[in-house]
Amino acid sequence: MNSKKIPGLYIHIPFCLSKCPYCDFYSSTSISAAPDFLNGLSKEMEMYRHQFNPIDTVYIGGGTPSLLSPEQLENILTKVRKNFDLIADAEITIEANPADLNQSFLESMREIGINRINIGAQSFDEKVLGFLGRRHSVKEAISAVEAPRKAGFENIGLDLIYGVPGQGIGVWLNTLKQGIAFSPEHLSCYQLTLEPKTPLGRRWQAGEFSAPGEELQYEFFMKTSEFLEEAGYIHYEVSNFARGMEHASKHNQKYWDHSPFLGLGPSAHSFHGNQRWWNHRSFDQYLASINAGNLPVQETETLTIEQLRLEALYLGLRTKKGISLQDFKKQYHSDLLSGKKKIFKKLEEAGFIAIRDGYLYPTPTGLAIADTLSLI
Ligand code: SF4
Repeated sequence: MNSKKIPGLYIHIPFCLSKCPYCDFYSSTSISAAPDFLNGLSKEMEMYRHQFNPIDTVYIGGGTPSLLSPEQLENILTKVRKNFDLIADAEITIEANPADLNQSFLESMREIGINRINIGAQSFDEKVLGFLGRRHSVKEAISAVEAPRKAGFENIGLDLIYGVPGQGIGVWLNTLKQGIAFSPEHLSCYQLTLEPKTPLGRRWQAGEFSAPGEELQYEFFMKTSEFLEEAGYIHYEVSNFARGMEHASKHNQKYWDHSPFLGLGPSAHSFHGNQRWWNHRSFDQYLASINAGNLPVQETETLTIEQLRLEALYLGLRTKKGISLQDFKKQYHSDLLSGKKKIFKKLEEAGFIAIRDGYLYPTPTGLAIADTLSLI
């Protein structure tokens, strides 16, 4: 179904020095287990050897990949090149914590072929960083954003969080101002989600603080979009902004257009054709499966054509480009507009979507309510 789309590779490094109280991603603070993990990861790569070829993006995320040593990271990429057909100008991204970045680490990253760095700065406000329980200061965030450029990185991304209790729009805009002062090629601006099972989520449920309501969240979203578009960034996906589409994350775009991708490491998800599968979240289970000679897959689901169509609609409406009606028909054997004509007309009249030049796409207001739009 999607054989012409080139696959990407995601590698989940499941370690963090400490656990941020809002984080729902899988990570462990037992960093001493890193050698065992790397051994398991290497075996997992061998199990998928020569599948998913060629590959044009590698995303080393987590967790905190920047906790690994340059040698460990080099070893991972050597194994990737050995087991997969990685094209010459592949986009190779690493996620990094500001507290871990120094010049020699960054230079080593460039030398081993990493050409894109995504820095989890989250905020340039000390109070917000404190509330989020981050282990870096504003000073460290600033030097972390400056350093990759000096090390020769030409593709730098910043992750920032808004909608933090007590933050206020002014404080957020100030963080954005400080962020763009470094001219990063990419910005991901995420709304803080208070997941019920996280320490912050539990404190919120216990009434210790209140979170911004829908109206304020909408204001955060629209102000972010306006501010960054005015500064020359393209708001190309709900949470993502690029200084020109050549700087949009090639890897993340695979998640939004049903390209195949292989995820390695605990909790990593994969997708191919109409199959989606995900690995054991627990590090111990992940390793036990691999050491028993099995893929560490916890579950696989097969999507029906109708589920794929709905997903394509949901994901497409999260992107500025939207959905090509012709491609949709070719890929999902269905005319997107027929059957939903009335509802699309209403959404168009209400200013949430537009249908033009063979594309169905969200307006800026539509992007703000992309999750609701997907329920149509
Ligand atoms: S550093 Fe990132 S992955 Fe680790 S706990 Fe904090 S938010 Fe989660």
